[in-house]
Amino acid sequence: MKPTIEYIQEHFDAYNRQFFDGALPTLPIKLSHAKGFLGKVTFVRKRQGLFGGYRNEDFVLRINVRIDLPEEVVQDTILHEMIHYYIAVNQLKDTSAHGRLFRAEMARINEEGHRHITISHRLNDEQKAQATIHKERAVAIVHFSDGKIGVKVVPKQEKHIRYWHKMAMRRFAIDRIDWILSADPYFAQFPSSIAMRIFIIPKPEDLPLDKTTILFS
Ligand SMILES: [Zn+2]
Repeated sequence: MKPTIEYIQEHFDAYNRQFFDGALPTLPIKLSHAKGFLGKVTFVRKRQGLFGGYRNEDFVLRINVRIDLPEEVVQDTILHEMIHYYIAVNQLKDTSAHGRLFRAEMARINEEGHRHITISHRLNDEQKAQATIHKERAVAIVHFSDGKIGVKVVPKQEKHIRYWHKMAMRRFAIDRIDWILSADPYFAQFPSSIAMRIFIIPKPEDLPLDKTTILFS
């Protein structure tokens, strides 16, 4: 999933009540497409008068929506950033960016909430694999003239889809091609390419077509 600002806000509020006694002040939430991080809390460290200390202000929570991630990873990312926010907004001292305090809060929330928050801002290999499995694919559901049904996954770009459609209609005896966008892991088993190779589906009734968007037929 790629979360919306509303989704992040809703979860921020729920987690705030569940894990922080509702004590975290609301802050602006932004979506980011930058590479290299899943989430980020930024703030400005402002001096309080000439001899005063510093205060952290102007907090912003950024959640990355560049890649489609499993919902649990998105939720754990929001929680990870909320721990950073909790520490910074309360001016608490930690031993490092993910120091003793951060880890203690992380352990508490993981235990209380059965979560899997980690100290990483990047995806681990398992999460990366999950992300590829869940990515949205352009899928051709090919209805052959003899009644057989075939599947072909094509790179999700209009030029590839149009090219493949044209070539397939020319080369094979086809009644119709339904093009769908699907994030269903079922379609991860088919290689994504523009090769003119169609996989016949022995039991077309097993195709996960209920939650898909039809691009065109
Ligand atoms: Zn962090």
